[in-house]
Amino acid sequence: MPDQPNAVARMLGVLGDEWTLLIVQQALLGARRYAEFAAALPISSAVLTSRLQSMVGDELLIRREYQTRPSRSEYLTTARSRALWPMLTSVWAWERAWVPDHAQPLPSMRHSLCRSSFEPRVACRSCSEPVVHGEVSARWGPTGSWQRSIPASANRRRSPHRRSSAGVLFPQTMSVIGDRWAFALLVAAFVGVCRFTDFQQQLGAPPGTVAARLSTFTAEEILARHDDGYVLTEKGRAFFPVLVCALHWAQNVFGGAQGPAVVLTHNRCGRRFVPVLECSRCGERLRGSHIMPVAG
Ligand SMILES: [Zn+2]
Ligand SMILES: [Zn+2]
Repeated sequence: MPDQPNAVARMLGVLGDEWTLLIVQQALLGARRYAEFAAALPISSAVLTSRLQSMVGDELLIRREYQTRPSRSEYLTTARSRALWPMLTSVWAWERAWVPDHAQPLPSMRHSLCRSSFEPRVACRSCSEPVVHGEVSARWGPTGSWQRSIPASANRRRSPHRRSSAGVLFPQTMSVIGDRWAFALLVAAFVGVCRFTDFQQQLGAPPGTVAARLSTFTAEEILARHDDGYVLTEKGRAFFPVLVCALHWAQNVFGGAQGPAVVLTHNRCGRRFVPVLECSRCGERLRGSHIMPVAG
């Protein structure tokens, strides 16, 4: 089945919705009941109800009845959603550092081991060295191709999200992962695609689509125009942790017997690159349960 969507496309189908990410985040911070999600997020009850339902279907949450007559349920995290903390932590850090137009500043994060505010840092699981963009090479695995990495539009659930308005916590991240072409286009930029015609031909995207995504990324200063092409800015390169954490999650959760979509190699140690996050303050490997947001 060469045309079946691969792990990347399935991830974008599941996570390309800001409410889903925000609900996962609240669940990881301890919310379980409908009222707790409703109190923490500026979400309408219709949207919350429908997202909770679809997230149970996608195995991001388990529904458990804790009371009968009247029936009341709570929503528990799954191994699948608990494994999202590195990506969510990276999204949080990137938005905090690079996106100035949040209605309210995002709180910093505190590492409970060293009791400091910290930034997450990506390292290689094999050799423990810190890794930034440019130190990892990517090639397609057995299920990899641009076509298979882009979800069919029919499979997607999208909520209209208003940019820069109160309650939208991850405005620019969603312009990357909330759009079925944008993620592929940014990945292409990370592996060195630069010219308009190359984006268009490799992705097989309509020229108008490519032009629109490039102009969004240019306006957000993720890409910059350069001679006859587009290159990642410092802000764009700083998206690397989100990209590799998202990819790692996708391939762990959706990777099938047919093998990975993308194979990453850490150039320095020559081994398969698996991202892990470290605390920028104490250098210890982070765990999701050791991270808490701090107000102010
Ligand atoms: Zn390494
Ligand atoms: Zn620390």
